[in-house]
Amino acid sequence: MSNPRIGFHLSTAGGVFKAAERAHEIGANTFQIFSSSPRMWRPARIDASHARQLTELRRKYDCTPMVIHTSYLVNLCSQSEEVRKKSVAAFRGEVERALALGAEYLVLHPGSWRGLTREEGLVLAAASIAEATDGFNLDDVNFRILIENTAGAEFSLGSSFDQVAELITRLRPVVPIGACLDTCHCHVAGYDLVSPEGYEETVDLIKNTIGFADVRVWHTNDAKAARGSKLDRHQQIGKGTIGLEPFRRLLNDKRFRHCAFIAEVPVDEPGDDAKNVQTLRSLIATSAKPARARSKR
Ligand SMILES: [Zn+2]
Ligand SMILES: [Zn+2]
Repeated sequence: MSNPRIGFHLSTAGGVFKAAERAHEIGANTFQIFSSSPRMWRPARIDASHARQLTELRRKYDCTPMVIHTSYLVNLCSQSEEVRKKSVAAFRGEVERALALGAEYLVLHPGSWRGLTREEGLVLAAASIAEATDGFNLDDVNFRILIENTAGAEFSLGSSFDQVAELITRLRPVVPIGACLDTCHCHVAGYDLVSPEGYEETVDLIKNTIGFADVRVWHTNDAKAARGSKLDRHQQIGKGTIGLEPFRRLLNDKRFRHCAFIAEVPVDEPGDDAKNVQTLRSLIATSAKPARARSKR
């Protein structure tokens, strides 16, 4: 990917292809959607003509990758066999729709292991993903499931890079797999992205657990709550407890150059989506800038 990939989580109201139109309108060249209602079990149907239009528009606007975020109801490590079964079926639907829409990535929160041990939860989540993807031929498609790090609420799996890495290791022989890291989740889970030294330590931890190559998407969200608070409340870029500078550092970090950066922040006023995309883009250093700064000295 030559130019940086900056995008937003967008609505599919009016048809899934509308998201590509919206992305283009707000200056994004990557985006994320839900492929069904994120708070209902009812499976969605993909309209084939809408899927075709989506592919055409993405090609026309050079909008890639496209990311699908899994429904919030899916809990693949639930202690309740009924909920887990429903979750496996729902996640299977997510994979089916992602393939039908030509999505490059499907982002998944690993789930809540309440009632089990963390280790049992981890094993169960990996087994459920294997079960949900059984029978799909995922070798020849440009598609990966991405495990997202979580904010660290009690019993939620994946709030540490270690846990994300362990799931990836377990799943690597089973499905094409990678990670999606969320800046807000990192911050409220206790990782330091804000101080320059803390940022380097955090990035070192990523290198030694998940590894850079497997990080495919960053959810670039500022946070409303304090570092370590475990409260998952997203804020617009630069207006929260993370602030602008850490995003500048991340967006210009060569170790994440292959990643897509997608904001999932509140749209309080019409146009806030475009504004946040613009903010992220404005933080990317143009190659001329550092040279000029150096020649002044
Ligand atoms: Zn996220
Ligand atoms: Zn979140």
